[in-house]
Amino acid sequence: MINARTKFVGLLGWPVEHSLSPFIHNLAFDHFKINWRYIPLPVQPGCLEQAVSGLKALNFIGVNVTIPHKVDIVKYVDELDDAAKGIGAVNTLAIAGNKVHGFNTDAGGFLNSLIRCGFTIKGKKAVLLGAGGAARAVIHSLLHNGIAEVAVGGRNQEKISKWCQGLAGILRVKAYDWLSADFASQLKDCDLIINCTPLGMSPNAFEYPPVDWSIVNSSAIAYDLIYNPLETCFLQQAKQNGLATINGLAMLIEQALLSFSIWTGTDTSSDRLYAQIESYLKMQLK
Ligand code: NAP
Repeated sequence: MINARTKFVGLLGWPVEHSLSPFIHNLAFDHFKINWRYIPLPVQPGCLEQAVSGLKALNFIGVNVTIPHKVDIVKYVDELDDAAKGIGAVNTLAIAGNKVHGFNTDAGGFLNSLIRCGFTIKGKKAVLLGAGGAARAVIHSLLHNGIAEVAVGGRNQEKISKWCQGLAGILRVKAYDWLSADFASQLKDCDLIINCTPLGMSPNAFEYPPVDWSIVNSSAIAYDLIYNPLETCFLQQAKQNGLATINGLAMLIEQALLSFSIWTGTDTSSDRLYAQIESYLKMQLK
């Protein structure tokens, strides 16, 4: 229950009505018996500066930052962590006095989701479909954890090639048109194939990126960053071709738990909490 001692964190984005983050964080506050609440904070584009001043004035502990503010918010941050610097985007702010610290927990959340299912990145080859903001966090994580090779495929090779420039570890990354024969040949020996596009996300659940599954290494893992629906067409096709699959729910939960730890200093490595959050979200997404 909210009382005069309750502290606040929240989600700064536009729109925010469909977010699952309030469920995750408020469940975690209840789990650890912490008198904090996580609230939605709809902030229109163009109002970010005022929003950050408001958060400071209202003594917010921090916020998550989501679409469309993840890149623009960098201007209002005093200090960035390494992941946020490398990715060029922030999804978590921690406010201490007048200072705003910016973090990117998407990269760590992606990494922890792979660790959770026992996948080791070092020396492996990954194929990414799509090259937007989430792909940048994924690639940061892969490159910083010893991936040997990354093939990035998308609908506009020139745009992807530009996107790849400036990545630390660029020598291990190549850009492809995802309809080309060169890209198809990358699928044969990959260990991880990741959908980083919104193709297949509700309400367009019938969409999927073009992948020739007859070529894909069947011992690879197929990972879809999408969590709504829990099983996309991309994952269904991968399963039918014998691949193990991971949906975006694990990354969603792991990035949230990392933000939670930044704000509260709490060790969130509780399997019971993870299971509780996972089953709650699965019910919401049915
Ligand atoms: P984004 O920045 O808009 O990037 C989307 C990428 O997909 C771009 O490369 C874009 O290509 C490509 N794309 C978009 N529509 C396409 C289409 N119709 N055909 C072909 N390519 C298309 O989006 P994002 O923020 O990276 O998010 C991508 C997905 O990841 C979303 O589904 C999001 O919900 C999910 N996500 C999940 C988590 C999680 O915690 N599980 C976290 C973040 C994001 P162009 O550049 O050519 O437009």
